[in-house]
Amino acid sequence: MDKWKKRTKAVHAGTRRSSYGEVSEAIFLTQGFVYESAEQAEARFVKLGDDEFIYARYGNPTVAMLEDRMAALEGVEAGFATASGMAAVNGALTALVKAGDHIVSSRALFGSCLYILEDILARFGVEVTLVDGRDVDAWRTAIRPTTRLVFCESISNPTLEVIDLKAVCDIAHENGALVVVDNVFATPVYSYAAEAGADLIVYSTTKHVDGQGRCLGGMILGKRDLVRGPVEAYLKHTGGAMSPFNAWVMLKSLDHMDLRVNAQVDTAEKIAAALEGHPKLARVIYPGLKSHPQHDLARRQAERAGTVMAIEVKGGKDAAFKMLNTLEIFTISNNFADSKSIVTHPATTTHQRLPAEQKALLGISPGLIRLSCGLEDADDLIADLLAALEAI
Ligand SMILES: *Cc1c(COP(=O)(O)O)cnc(C)c1O
Repeated sequence: MDKWKKRTKAVHAGTRRSSYGEVSEAIFLTQGFVYESAEQAEARFVKLGDDEFIYARYGNPTVAMLEDRMAALEGVEAGFATASGMAAVNGALTALVKAGDHIVSSRALFGSCLYILEDILARFGVEVTLVDGRDVDAWRTAIRPTTRLVFCESISNPTLEVIDLKAVCDIAHENGALVVVDNVFATPVYSYAAEAGADLIVYSTTKHVDGQGRCLGGMILGKRDLVRGPVEAYLKHTGGAMSPFNAWVMLKSLDHMDLRVNAQVDTAEKIAAALEGHPKLARVIYPGLKSHPQHDLARRQAERAGTVMAIEVKGGKDAAFKMLNTLEIFTISNNFADSKSIVTHPATTTHQRLPAEQKALLGISPGLIRLSCGLEDADDLIADLLAALEAI
C-alpha cells in the first residue's frame, strides 16, 4: 500500500471487510462488542490488539477505517478520529501540556482555537505567547526553555497568511518542542505538513473531507507513539470520539475528495483572476495569486492554493452586507469547503468575539468577505459575484 499514490489510498487504504465480503465499507453502528468468553474480555482490557475493540469511545471498526485511510493519505503512522475539528485541536493541545508549560502560537487563528489557548489552557497554568506567524524570527524569539508546544494554522482562516512550516518545525525541534499544525486550509489533498516535520497534524473533516456540509468530524494524525500514546489516552477518557455513522460518511467522501477539491481549486483560481483589480475591491487575498505577499512560499510548499479566498470590498460593512444580500448562488453561511459556494462575513460572525485591536492586527476588516468556492459552474459563480459587486 505504501507505494500507492494518494488517489488510490483515498479509495482503498484501511479497508476492513466483515465475513460477508461487502464491497462498500460497512457502518458498524455499535457502541459495544461481544466477547467469546470472560477470559477474552479480561485479555482485551489488559491489552487491546491491533484490530480489537471494546467500546466505541475507544475505537470502532468503521472509525478505524477512516483513521487508517487518512493516516495513509497523509503519509503518517496513525490517526485518532474525533467528534469535531475543535475536539481534535483541543485533544492535540491538551494531551501534550501540563501546568508550567509554555506554548508559542501564531496569532492568526480560528476563534475557538484562540479560546482554548488563551482561556482554557491559561486556567490550568499553561502560558501562551502569540506571534506573527509570517515572521520566522518572531517564532525563534518567542521560544523559551519551557516551550513544550508550537501551534499554528498552516494557512490562516480567514486572511490566508502562510506559515513557513519547515522553518517553524526546525526552530521548535532545535528547542525540544513539538509542533501541532491545524492544516484545514491546506487540505489533505495538498498537505505538506508531514514532510515539513509537523508532529501532529489536525483536520476538521467537517471541511474538505465531508465536503458536502453534512457531518462534523476531526482527525489527529502523526507518529504512533504520540497518537496511540497521550492523544488517545486523553480522548478516550474524555469522550471526544467520532460517531461511526459520521466516520462512514467521511469514508465515502474520501473516494472523491481529490476530484472535488481539484475542481474547487480550478474555480477558485478563475474567480481570483476575475475579481483581482475590480474597482469595488480593495484587495483579493488568495495565495495562488502573484499579488499575495507569500505567493512564492505558498507555491514552494504546496501544489495548489486551496478552495477559499478573502476579498475586501471598499465601503466597509454596509458594502459587504449589500454584496452578501445580493448574491444568488453563493449562500450566506459560516462553513467552507462545501460543494455549495458560501460567503461569510468574518468580522460579524466567525471572528466576532475577537477584540477590535486583534481584528485590526489580523486584517479582519468590516469590508472583508470570505469566499468558499464550491462545485457549481465557475462562470455562473463569477457572474453572481460581479452582479453583487455592481449592486454595491
Ligand atoms: C472549522 C475549523 C476548525 C473547527 O472545526 P469543527 O469541525 O467546526 O469543530 C478548526 N480549525 C480551522 C482552521 C477550521 O477552519
